[in-house]
This record gives sequence, structure tokens and C-alpha cells, in this order.
Amino acid sequence: MATRLDGKVVSKRILSELQQTVTDLAQQGVTPTLAVILVGSDPASQVYVRNKQRRAEEIGVRSLMFKLPEETSQETLLAKVAELNQDPDVDGILVQLPLPKQLDERVVINAIDPDKDVDGFSPVSVGRLWTNEPTVVASTPYGIMALLDAYQIDVTGKRVVIVGRSNIVGRPLAGLMVNHDATVTIAHSKTHDLKALTREADILVIAIGVPHFIGADAVKPGATVIDVGISRGADGKLQGDVDAEAVDAIAGALTPVPGGVGPMTIASLMAQTVELAKRRLHG
Ligand code: NDP
Repeated sequence: MATRLDGKVVSKRILSELQQTVTDLAQQGVTPTLAVILVGSDPASQVYVRNKQRRAEEIGVRSLMFKLPEETSQETLLAKVAELNQDPDVDGILVQLPLPKQLDERVVINAIDPDKDVDGFSPVSVGRLWTNEPTVVASTPYGIMALLDAYQIDVTGKRVVIVGRSNIVGRPLAGLMVNHDATVTIAHSKTHDLKALTREADILVIAIGVPHFIGADAVKPGATVIDVGISRGADGKLQGDVDAEAVDAIAGALTPVPGGVGPMTIASLMAQTVELAKRRLHG
């Protein structure tokens, strides 16, 4: 049986350490502050935002919530971002995606001050990541690295295959892996003979959103398998991209869904908000 990489346990530990750091910062007059902008009423986004706020409050991070109506104009949204960029008490700014159709996500993300871009989605942050400069990186890849680290799974020199090339998971994770001396391949829907590729991976990361896509025949014996996918099955239960029952017998380590990468993502957002607050204090 594969070692279970338990994101619930690890994220709890990280959050409790962060709580202590937040207390220390407060004693020095800085309350880490995360500003969240939610445009419209997408139900999934509302749940994500609520979860982020709840975690923030639990560890003493101040969370400012700005709910804007569905029909918000680009101009109004950009004005809100500009206002938060200027606010010296705000450390991180997060615009919950997806945005309603009339808004241009790229323009809005680009408008966030790169030093407050807590999601790490702006081109400046992405550029810093790929030139291996200190930067904020997207929370899910950051969380995956933290989870591997917690289980002392060293990526140095390892063959890493990432299936999925989104800006929020696959691409930034590839950058982090390269920075940590892994040998990385990114695969996607146009990749030929995907299974032959995934079978070569010492560390296999799947982030595509296709339930149970990866079976035992796609995994090298002993490999570490990171299942990022979250889909809801007909029975209402959450499903990953990995057929966990089958892969459990062959993998060396495996993240469960739920309880693997998901909890690490929110903890990582908090970690990076706190990091930005430290920069406010120390420059
Ligand atoms: P996107 O839809 O943005 O990207 C999906 C990627 O998967 C694309 O690169 C696509 O390829 C690739 N893909 C789709 N189908 C296949 C296939 N059959 N074979 C190979 N590649 C394929 O998704 P996200 O990155 O936003 O999310 C991926 C999954 O991860 C979702 O289930 C999402 O819910 C989950 N997720 C979970 C998080 C967590 O905290 N646990 C956080 C973020 C996402 P192409 O580029 O060629 O179209």
C-alpha cells in the first residue's frame, strides 16, 4: 500500500505554525491582511472565498472581503484593485476567478501590484518564478511542494511528469520543480502516448479534472502520485483524477482526494499572505 500523503494533517501543522508567526507579527504592529475581491455570485467561488476567509480568521490574518455585483464594469474593478494597491495595510490581493464574461482576467490580474499578488498569477510573478528569484507562487503548486517536503520526498534529480498545463497548477509547478532541481516534463491533451510518459515518472502529478483518468497501468512501481483533480461524481462525492484504489497497490506514495492537495492550497495562501506581511515589516 502506498504511503498516504495527508494534506489535512500537514496543513493543520502549517496553519498552527503560521498562527504563532501572526501573533509575533501583531506584537510588532503588523496584522497580515488579505483582500479578496469576489465579482458576481458563482456558487463554487463563494464557497472557495468563504473557506479562505474562515482559515484566515482562524490564524489571525485579517481578511477584507469586497463583493461586487455580477454586472461590475472593468473600470470599477480596476479602480478597486488600484485602491487596494495603494492601501499600506493590505499585504495580499486576490481576485477570485473566474470573472464574469465582460471582464478581462488578464488585464485585471496584471493590474495587481506584483508585490501584493498573493496568487502569483501576474506575469511579473511568473517571470520571477522562471528566473528563480524570490516570489509568491500559485497556492496549489506551493502546497504540493510543501506536502512533498513534509514527507521528505526529495525532488532533486527526479523525473517529474505533470499532466495539465494550466496557469494555476501545471505551469507554475513545473517552474518550482525545475528550481528544486527536478527533471520536468509537462503533458497535456495533445501529448502522444501519455501512458508511456507517465510510467517513466518518479513523481507523477495529475491536474486535469478527469475522474479516475490514471490507473495502475499508467504508474511506475514505487512512484509518488499527486492527485490534484477534483470532480464531483453522480453520487455527489468528490473524485480525483487518479483511480486511487488501483494505484494504491503500485505507487510508493499517494495523495487522497479529498484531504490531499486541497487543504494544502488554502494553507499555502495563508503562508504567502504572512510572508508578504513579513516583507512589509522587514522590507
Ligand atoms: P484546466 O481546465 O485549466 O486545465 C486542465 C489541463 O488538463 C489542460 O492543460 C488540459 O490540456 C489537460 N487535460 C485535459 N484533459 C486531458 C486529457 N484527457 N489528457 C491529458 N491532458 C488533459 O484545469 P485546472 O488546472 O484549473 O484544474 C485541473 C483540476 O485540478 C480540476 O479538477 C480542478 O478542480 C483541480 N484543482 C484542484 C485544486 C486543489 O486545490 N486541489 C486547485 C486547482 C485546481 P490542454 O491544455 O491541452 O487543454
